[in-house]
Amino acid sequence: MGGGTVLAIGAGEARAIAPGARRTINARHLMAMPGLVNAHVHSNEAFERGLHGTVSLEPWLARAYPPLGAPAVPLRWHYLRALLVACDAIHSGTIAIQDDCLNPGCDPDALDQVMQAWADSGLRAAVATTLADRSYLDGLPFARQICPPQLRAQLDARTPLSIDHQADFFTQAHQRWNAAANGRLQVILGPRGPQRCSDTLMRRLVQLRERHDAAIHMHVLESRLQLAASNVQACGGHAEGGFLQRLQRAGLLDSRLTINHAVWLGERDIERLAASGACVTHNPLSNLRLGSGRAPLRALLEAGVPVALGSDGPATGDTADMLAVLRATSLIHRDPQVPRTRWIGPDDAWHAATRGGARSMRLGPQHGQLVVGAPADLILVDTRHRAFVPMNDPIAQLAWSASPEVIDTVIVAGSVLMHERRIEAFDETAVLTEAQAAAQAWRELHLPGQMASGAAFDPLLSEVIARASAHANPVATL
Ligand SMILES: [Zn+2]
Repeated sequence: MGGGTVLAIGAGEARAIAPGARRTINARHLMAMPGLVNAHVHSNEAFERGLHGTVSLEPWLARAYPPLGAPAVPLRWHYLRALLVACDAIHSGTIAIQDDCLNPGCDPDALDQVMQAWADSGLRAAVATTLADRSYLDGLPFARQICPPQLRAQLDARTPLSIDHQADFFTQAHQRWNAAANGRLQVILGPRGPQRCSDTLMRRLVQLRERHDAAIHMHVLESRLQLAASNVQACGGHAEGGFLQRLQRAGLLDSRLTINHAVWLGERDIERLAASGACVTHNPLSNLRLGSGRAPLRALLEAGVPVALGSDGPATGDTADMLAVLRATSLIHRDPQVPRTRWIGPDDAWHAATRGGARSMRLGPQHGQLVVGAPADLILVDTRHRAFVPMNDPIAQLAWSASPEVIDTVIVAGSVLMHERRIEAFDETAVLTEAQAAAQAWRELHLPGQMASGAAFDPLLSEVIARASAHANPVATL
């Protein structure tokens, strides 16, 4: 490879193929493959693996993102949390990642830390800036009527940032960081979800997208309660229509949109997505953990919707190990009620994790393939590992037999990020040591308050879910 692209493919002496190469790697016993793309993660959750217990999405959200706010953390923690995710990513053969790093206060210093971490990781990264203008209560069906007056007053006292402020934050972040680190970094738009965005904000998103040619990365119809919100909105008298109708009417449905989760899509929604070229990220670990349901993956693929895979944030996916995501994707869609021919297999999952992810990140048509002229974003897999003894089907065994131990080398744009399972892009041991101490401080200083603040919303959410259940088939209980 040279200039960050693949020059030739073949067995033999590297120096004969690429004379003058700066570095040669003896790849005997190693299998070269395109690297994986983690198309949906939240690096800000990296200290929260394994927390929050057995709850569904809405009470989980109240704990991970307390509606009454959480105290600011030291700037350095934003950097460490992104690099912690990068460790998981690189060890599991990831070459690119989309980080929907929640930053609702639009703190430019926090964003700089996150962007610098991704620059230092050596990975390709698209980082979303957070946008929302509807309050927490207005994002949940019936919540404003049900909420006790005192809590409602506390929530309403939290003045949201103006759309102008949030748009300026994106624009400045885009100017500072988009295409930085030799073009590896992108800054994209991260509206929180249709239930948290007014039509005015949606129109502004379209303007920003057109002005900067920026992708939009948005959670849509992740839970049954969100389906209820969409249905209530559709017949609520304001003629807004369901979530997908609103996105379409606002002009958001196009090939630069990626919707995350998309568990509760209807048939018309899938048709709308397919006609628009918008992408979907499938996040099976998170959907399983929160009992959110199972996205209609086969229907999406049959309709021609580009599908990518994501781990989701470490507080629901609990890992950014893309081999675990491959495994879950290629196992959970095997349902005795569904004909075997419509199940999802390792090849489908592999395509989504490589070319599907590249499509969502708009990395260019040759990304996700190992062909001459493609960007040199490769992994070398150890075929001597017991997971490949015997070697019957590399893709199926990568999904079903392997762990990150099999990933020997990760190369992005021709630069070696990891070799012989040792990360070369940054000092992993130093990052883990510092992150361990920082996370311990977070556990002591912030976690108890965050948990108590979030759990206080359980009674309200129970009532909201019960009341909304009539609008979306049975709704999961707390
Ligand atoms: Zn997410």
